[in-house]
Amino acid sequence: MDRLHAQKIWKIASDLGLPPNGAPADAILGFCEDRAKAMLFDFPECASPSELLDIMAATLGTRFEEVQSDDELFALQRQYVLSGELGFTSLGKELEGESYGVTFLRMVACTGERPFVSVIDCRGKKSLRSYFTKWHEIAHLLILTDQQKSAYKRTHGYGANKDPEETLVDLIAGHMGFLPTFLLPEIRADVSFSEVDRIRLKLCPEASFQASAIAYAKNHRLPCLLIEAKLALRKDEEAETFQGCFSFHDPPTPRLRVQMVVPGGDARKHGLYIPKNHRVPETSVIHQVHDGQQDYAVATECLSFWKSSDGKRLEALPVRIEARKSFDAVLALISLAGDGPHLQRGTQKKRNPGGTRIFDDSY
Ligand SMILES: [Zn+2]
Repeated sequence: MDRLHAQKIWKIASDLGLPPNGAPADAILGFCEDRAKAMLFDFPECASPSELLDIMAATLGTRFEEVQSDDELFALQRQYVLSGELGFTSLGKELEGESYGVTFLRMVACTGERPFVSVIDCRGKKSLRSYFTKWHEIAHLLILTDQQKSAYKRTHGYGANKDPEETLVDLIAGHMGFLPTFLLPEIRADVSFSEVDRIRLKLCPEASFQASAIAYAKNHRLPCLLIEAKLALRKDEEAETFQGCFSFHDPPTPRLRVQMVVPGGDARKHGLYIPKNHRVPETSVIHQVHDGQQDYAVATECLSFWKSSDGKRLEALPVRIEARKSFDAVLALISLAGDGPHLQRGTQKKRNPGGTRIFDDSY
């Protein structure tokens, strides 16, 4: 989150004419939401974030070009270069590695053509993030001032060198892609993955399941946690391994640990709390889904089964846990069990009613 307080973020807020009080990222999010409201006022029939995405692309002046293969990328590159868009000569390079999309300011756009082109990389696994990539490119344009538009050149930086603006733009994309105006009326009085599927299909079918589940948990009124569990080392084990301290004995074994926690509905106030990197108990349905053949299971468990390596247990609390396999990880949606203190021992396993593929997307 430090990146969201970087000098560059303050500068963006200042360039947009936002008052210099409070967190700059919050002010910029509010600015983007106001722009969305203004567009929705002009297009009152817009009923979903997917439709809003197209409206914003048209309003902000960009055209999405999706490339599904290397051949399509070369063909698109050739088409634009031949039309005089020499910036496209670097298209292949722009989409290398962790880059999922790029927006070019057109040099020779004809009257009536949109001034920008946003190329969305949908090759291989990158296709799983296409919805988010489109919102990412739109978010760049949303915070562009008129002066900056004439010299637009977007270069992405990732990993340790990630530009603070990229973190900000990811935040905007995650918010706009599941705009509360559309999402909140859809959230009903239960917490379930089938509801995530239903809402995703209704509002933004192109979005990944994981991104949809994150937005769902974050905006739910009922206490809940969305967690992602993967095989990982403890932080101290990781550091020791990195320093090569295990040369004289066996390296530590990775265990199933919580790698992402998204709380919703004041979860912590209701005692629903699992720290990041906590080990998942082997008796939990989350572990069973990770180890087993099934891609989905649901169970009622007690959080006191969750024991850390120093012997401490989480507070006792009956919870309902739904677990879905997601490539090498498990996504689990945890809510308060509705049937009182009587815990069901063991697990109930059933087929995933939604049957929707799980996409490993993160933001
Ligand atoms: Zn970017």
